[in-house]
Amino acid sequence: MDAQTPTNPGLRPYRPDFLREVEREVEGGDMVKMCMQCGVCAGSCPFGPHWEHSPQKLFMMIRAGQRDAVLATDSMWMCTSCYNCVVRCPRKLPITTIMHGLASYAQRLGLAPKMQPTRDLSLAFYRNFRKGGRLNEVKFTLWVYFHDGLRAGVKKAWAMRGIGLGMLKAGRLNPFEMFGGHRCKDTKGIAAMLAKVQQIEQREQARREEARQGAAH
Ligand code: SF4
Ligand code: SF4
Repeated sequence: MDAQTPTNPGLRPYRPDFLREVEREVEGGDMVKMCMQCGVCAGSCPFGPHWEHSPQKLFMMIRAGQRDAVLATDSMWMCTSCYNCVVRCPRKLPITTIMHGLASYAQRLGLAPKMQPTRDLSLAFYRNFRKGGRLNEVKFTLWVYFHDGLRAGVKKAWAMRGIGLGMLKAGRLNPFEMFGGHRCKDTKGIAAMLAKVQQIEQREQARREEARQGAAH
């Protein structure tokens, strides 16, 4: 297999037009070209040294067309939205937005790294609240405890038993929420709101593409 042959059909190791793709598909992606590689964001990020790629490096890789490496990394999933980089960037790039936009795009393409804790937690949170319009805390807590397996879950639950019992006594925890739980009154309204968000995202995507094509002519 030569260096250009993808190992996953969804991944293409090198794409010269990857910057265009990011401009069209990723929120804030049209600002990536403004990065002057000063490194301030990499130096300001409290967790950057522990990631595979800092924001500065990711932006350089996007411009170099390294599609495979950018979309498969878990670096953007590690962003905690502290905004340290954003307030210091001399070019005023919306770095946090771009980091989350890249993560979301990788997820949409099915290329996000599996078993990445932030990704897994976000998905579990979203699936939990989506239907009823509110988070079922009992189900979510059980997910947090047991998603690493039964043994790990029992250990964690045992370690937290004091807090759990205290919440039960104070009426802050209702084990019967396990069996359905209560929902928002207007679940149809929640579904309509989520559909609207999707519609706005699609409109934004079309707007970015239009702006990109306008700038190219
Ligand atoms: S601080 Fe801004 S301009 Fe500097 S490398 Fe980071 S994104 Fe680029
Ligand atoms: S917002 Fe994200 S990328 Fe920026 S400094 Fe904070 S953790 Fe790092």
